[in-house]
Amino acid sequence: MSAQHKTIKAPAAVKTARTSRPEIVETVADVIADVRTHGDAAVRRWSQKFDNWSPKSYRLGPDQLASVVSSVPETVLDDLRFVQQQVRGFAQAQRDSLTDFEVETLPGVFLGQRNIPIGAAGAYVPGGRYPLTASAHMTVLTAKVAGVERVAATTPPDRGAPPPVSIAAMHLAGADEIYVMGGVQAVAALALGTETIDAVDMLAGPGNAYVAEAKRQLFGEVGIDLFAGPTEVLIVADDTADPFVVATDLLSQAEHGPDSPTVLITTSEEVGTRTIAWVDRLLPDLPTGDVAGRAWRDHGEVIVVPTLTTAYELADQYASEHVQILTAEPREALHRMRNYGALFLGDKTCVAYGDKVIGTNHVLPTLGAARYTGGLWVGKYLKTVTYQEIRDAGASARLGEICGRASRIENFEGHARSGDVRAARFGSAPLGW
Ligand code: NAD
Repeated sequence: MSAQHKTIKAPAAVKTARTSRPEIVETVADVIADVRTHGDAAVRRWSQKFDNWSPKSYRLGPDQLASVVSSVPETVLDDLRFVQQQVRGFAQAQRDSLTDFEVETLPGVFLGQRNIPIGAAGAYVPGGRYPLTASAHMTVLTAKVAGVERVAATTPPDRGAPPPVSIAAMHLAGADEIYVMGGVQAVAALALGTETIDAVDMLAGPGNAYVAEAKRQLFGEVGIDLFAGPTEVLIVADDTADPFVVATDLLSQAEHGPDSPTVLITTSEEVGTRTIAWVDRLLPDLPTGDVAGRAWRDHGEVIVVPTLTTAYELADQYASEHVQILTAEPREALHRMRNYGALFLGDKTCVAYGDKVIGTNHVLPTLGAARYTGGLWVGKYLKTVTYQEIRDAGASARLGEICGRASRIENFEGHARSGDVRAARFGSAPLGW
């Protein structure tokens, strides 16, 4: 860090590692190997061990589903419908922004691009610490808007029963199959398939370190959305920011988990010190203060910088999942910043809106992945593929001659002959072999 930066609260722990701990890698490999060999029996064994959960069937049948959904109060269902309308609206706008096209690059040569939905998607809705209902909107709905035919959604049990609100959200979002299973065994079952569960083509959704590692190990056999690890927040604030709001918003993300990085970069030392004081005042009264307090102690940071330009540069180096801008001109961050999962501009919105209600997707890159990817969106469920056609014989003959020469430079005689055949058939070049 440059001498221009003054850290007025440093993290007590080392930065969250970007790779999984060896014991997690090993446990995950064991569970995956077992599910690969023993299918449903392995799913049952590990669900029993990790979640004390061994129902007759892991898939909810129509009667069970109806009974779980009907146990959810109508006001809660109304809120779910409202939020899903917001998520659907934005996802649909994203879908509409992706157009198929065809272009004639040479006379008679047509090249095209299409966006084809994948066939089957798995949606992981976390549920260990909190039933993360909102993840159902983000994964299931987004896949459905993309046009995915089969969406199989899964979530862990909550204290020995299906979590009703998450199940209702999956159902309202249009999930075709709903399973109550969590962790590595759920990810492996969907990725590899078992006797009773058909494998999917792609898996999406956030999860804890075990879920993230399982997705990493299975990537290749199955597509994945991104590596979504522990939630992160970074706030950029100037002297116009209200330290009470800054502290409240930092804690709103710190409560995700004890390893959640919680960072404030500010041009005002007064805002920094008053935010620290507010966090100390707010923590004892927060029901999730134990987790949030550990995140703040171990991964909380407050850095004072001389200018907003330095603040944006430093924020780009963090490449945080969520970046909130609490300054006099918040929109300038749109043009000044490059690395973030989602940007929250001004004090009228906040990361919690993004997580729960506003409609942008909350499955976002963590651990520096925002340097190279954005979050989950409709496009992740679509394969952007190309096609080509030549309708003009002369164009084919010309490309055939060039293809022959280009292939022989690389010693690809077989490729060259495909070109030669067309140069001869559609043009006048004699076959030399
Ligand atoms: P989870 O559903 O991811 O994990 C629960 C499962 O973990 C259990 O069902 C169990 O089978 C398995 N498990 C627990 N202990 C285990 C062990 N010792 N060995 C093997 N498996 C074990 O729910 P969670 O734990 O609450 O985690 C949710 C995570 O998602 C949090 O870390 C949160 O920060 C993160 N999150 C990330 C984003 C994002 O976009 N990056 C968004 C929301 C949430």
